[in-house]
Amino acid sequence: MLGRELMRRGSPFGGGILVPPDLTDASVYTYDPAVPESTAERARAFVREVVQPSVADWEASAKYPRAAVRDSGLTGLFVAPEAGGLGLSFLEAAEVFEELGRGDAALAFSISMHNAVTTAVAGVGDEALCARWVGPLVAGEALGGFYLTEPHAGSDATAITTRGTKRGDAWTVSGTKAWVTLGGEADVLLVVAKTEDEPGHRDVALFVVAADQPGVRFGEPYRKASADFLPITDMELQDADARLLVPPGQGMAAALAAIDVARFDIAAISNGLHAEALDVACRYASRRSVFGKPVIAHQGIAWALTDVATDLEAARGLTRKAAALLGSEGGPVAVAHAKRFGPDAALRAAIQCSETLGAYGWLHDYPLARFMALAKMLQVVDGSAEIQRIVIARDLVRRASE
Ligand SMILES: Cc1cc2nc3c(=O)[nH]c(=O)nc-3n(C[C@H](O)[C@H](O)[C@H](O)COP(=O)(O)OP(=O)(O)OC[C@H]3O[C@@H](n4cnc5c(N)ncnc54)[C@H](O)[C@@H]3O)c2cc1C
Repeated sequence: MLGRELMRRGSPFGGGILVPPDLTDASVYTYDPAVPESTAERARAFVREVVQPSVADWEASAKYPRAAVRDSGLTGLFVAPEAGGLGLSFLEAAEVFEELGRGDAALAFSISMHNAVTTAVAGVGDEALCARWVGPLVAGEALGGFYLTEPHAGSDATAITTRGTKRGDAWTVSGTKAWVTLGGEADVLLVVAKTEDEPGHRDVALFVVAADQPGVRFGEPYRKASADFLPITDMELQDADARLLVPPGQGMAAALAAIDVARFDIAAISNGLHAEALDVACRYASRRSVFGKPVIAHQGIAWALTDVATDLEAARGLTRKAAALLGSEGGPVAVAHAKRFGPDAALRAAIQCSETLGAYGWLHDYPLARFMALAKMLQVVDGSAEIQRIVIARDLVRRASE
């Protein structure tokens, strides 16, 4: 403990420049809709006042900050205002997710996934589904999760075997899902499943499954490199009651459309992690002196940080282009470029920025060690860098043959 205190005092920040204002009680940040503010500003305040001061406690308690997410005012980002949401454009959402990425990319990912489910239920759910779930989802009282991956089917989503079965007018779903983010926390499970025995994806449908029923069981949380507060588990579905959201034949296309938005969110989250890492490194390197001058005055360090800054500009440009094209024919490829480049660049940034802090980069007093693990997660989640390259390569082949 003494060593830790000495190290704090020895820090060029005098033990606190990165510590945000003393607002450690997550419940103090409650969005007041009467206050006019952009959603990005709201996300920035949520990160500075709630996430950054609390993330170490969340990690230590391994408990998902459900109340903080509910009170963030960020749980109905894409839902139309008539249904209680914020009706954001993709460009606005990019700013929001960039702000969230500055706090914690795993928490940001869970908010992205919740919003994908909320948007899908509000967008294509029937009257009964909307009446039951849209209000609670938009308010963050209920949490949503999207489950495609299975133990034997990750990148190759067409290999899933979870099965939806129709009995009269009702459906049940059975099978095993893996990498169930918010397993045990999510209330509304959006499950991708097949509806026939033949291999392939032409029969795939999307189902809404309520988590609180005997046919749904979650495994133990996975042990991960970071984000202990975010439960990720296996999920067993056994004749679970399900409501059809997207009918057989249209399910895989709908899932891929949702995944494109999720990939876009991840690109924006990467940019936030990248930007925060650069800010931390620049502030540190401007204050700490080595060999008689600030660390940043040494050209070897300054040039390395300029490359981090250029990568950030490029990543933001790709994300903005994706925002403009999402939903059009060029959307999937633009998103693939942003999702391929952003997390790779963010990982390089986290490593270089940690390097800039020397030994201190390894301490939890700074976010860089955590960011290195989180950037690695961002490379894989919602489709790995290799899968993005496959999307881009297909487009190159198509263009070459035109
Ligand atoms: C933190 C986290 C949370 C997640 N949450 C969810 C969730 O809530 N819901 C959900 O459905 N899924 C979730 N996932 C799963 C995620 O989408 C998959 O991990 C991802 O799609 C990759 O699948 P895999 O890990 O099984 O890798 P595999 O498919 O087994 O691939 C292994 C390696 O081979 C590469 N590879 C695969 N195919 C090719 C190819 N054709 N050419 C070249 N290389 C290839 C991959 O890029 C990877 O590097 C989550 C993952 C993470 C890390």
